[in-house]
Amino acid sequence: MEILWAALVLLGLGLLLGLGLAIAAVILHVKEDKRIEEVAKRLPNYNCGSCGYAGCKAMAEAIVNGKETNLRKCKPGKEDVNFKPIIEYLDQNPNEDGSKVNIHL
Ligand code: SF4
Repeated sequence: MEILWAALVLLGLGLLLGLGLAIAAVILHVKEDKRIEEVAKRLPNYNCGSCGYAGCKAMAEAIVNGKETNLRKCKPGKEDVNFKPIIEYLDQNPNEDGSKVNIHL
């Protein structure tokens, strides 16, 4: 009988904690700009950090948020392979207010 109670208590605790995590996931969800992922895909993805950012995703986030305008900071990037597709993509996908992301080579 004691084992059954212990199992029920653990089951209830598991359900309660699972519900808490599910609620926290909904409340704390951070909506990410999908353009960050798209720009990151077009970077070399060496995650070398020579651009001064922690990795390619951090560089992509800085580009999309307008904190980084110089694509040449990505040393391994090649203009035609990596940078032109980024410029074209961001030209086609402007900011919510319609303004263009300010980037240059
Ligand atoms: S320099 Fe280029 S390849 Fe290296 S982390 Fe920065 S964006 Fe990625």
